[in-house]
Amino acid sequence: MARVLISGGRVIDPASGVDTVQDIAIEDDRIVEIGVKLAKSPADRIIDATGKLVVPGLIDPHVHLREPGAEHKETIESGTLAAAVGGFTTVCCMPNTTPALDTPEMVTFVDGRSRSTAHCRVYTVAAGTKGRRGEEPSEISLLARAGAVGISDDGDAIASAGVMARVLTMTKQVGLAFMQHCQDPTLTVGASMHAGEVSVRLGLGGWPRVAEELIIERDVRLNTSIGCRYHVQHLSSSGSVEIVRRARAAGQPVTAEASPHHLLLTHEAVGGADGFAYDTNAKMNPPLREASDIAAIKAGIADGTITVLATDHAPHSVEEKARPFEEAPFGIVGLETALPLYVESLVKTGVIDWPRLIAMMTVEPAKLCGLHRIGLGTLAMGGTADVTVIDPEQEWTIRLEDLAGKSRNTPFLGRRVGARVVLTMVGGQIRHERR
Ligand SMILES: [Zn+2]
Repeated sequence: MARVLISGGRVIDPASGVDTVQDIAIEDDRIVEIGVKLAKSPADRIIDATGKLVVPGLIDPHVHLREPGAEHKETIESGTLAAAVGGFTTVCCMPNTTPALDTPEMVTFVDGRSRSTAHCRVYTVAAGTKGRRGEEPSEISLLARAGAVGISDDGDAIASAGVMARVLTMTKQVGLAFMQHCQDPTLTVGASMHAGEVSVRLGLGGWPRVAEELIIERDVRLNTSIGCRYHVQHLSSSGSVEIVRRARAAGQPVTAEASPHHLLLTHEAVGGADGFAYDTNAKMNPPLREASDIAAIKAGIADGTITVLATDHAPHSVEEKARPFEEAPFGIVGLETALPLYVESLVKTGVIDWPRLIAMMTVEPAKLCGLHRIGLGTLAMGGTADVTVIDPEQEWTIRLEDLAGKSRNTPFLGRRVGARVVLTMVGGQIRHERR
């Protein structure tokens, strides 16, 4: 039996309300003791966490691992390595692969590949409609039985209200959350960035806020009589925050997530001031918006309207991102950089404190995906030893060599940040360590 002692760190476990300097002892894959000044021996390894934060392993409910079908961008192996480097011990992968994750066999495929290749836990968010075409509901009860932890057609919204009503009803029956990629496709034809001053200046098709807001407004209305847990993915617009706030105040089971880029960058990041240099690493879906949207999302995080922080880790190859702006794919990688970027945008600015940040990256996504029921998202005596250690003051510059996944599409290269994951333990095994 291997015993590891993580000693002298500030243990923050929002699920149990703990925030104090303590030691944690781990034997094999379990936490066996949490307490002040635990005996140093016998221990096979003592990790000195003085000055560090010791938190439950981070959980990301929204990643794209690209396997199967686009292994040149990312694989379950490479994407989960990026996750471990970023402090994540659990990721939930989206179904927009090729083929889509829309059958129990595909859920089983991801499970099998994860068991043999992954560096952290992987769960599947399965497609709500067959082939993610938005036409015919998938066999949601079978997907749930196969282990899906959420339902989504991410990459696309379910545009038909009739289909959406059926999918919400079926998702409610199995107790999962439906996670909507909120984009009315009729309002975004030919759009590649936020509809505003910059899109007009650059002559690029504009993507209005209302394309997102309309879907949320419709779904909330549709869901009133159904009562499915409904989750808004990567919310980008100030109006969306308002709709979610109103729905929650009315007691509806609605949650929402933010992504780092929508908190730190505006449409100005697309560039093009000189008429040429459009940065395809600033091309996102939904698009980067304006300072007023950032302020609204922060207000939504501060008042508890938005409860989940995700990455929307979306790897693309250098060649794909080198295409002209309008032809390049949407999205950026995010697993390796999410924590310091959230610290910069939310903790250093006083929007929320460390315990709330950790809650939004552990117990809140665990509840969204039902993973709290198997003990994830918390540090419990006798519980699973998924632990992340963070240096809250370490300054560093994000460089290419810090990205562990296959792709490097991020506009944050060269950015100076002020917190860093130094150790990631998954089920008692150290999967990442920065010495
Ligand atoms: Zn999406």
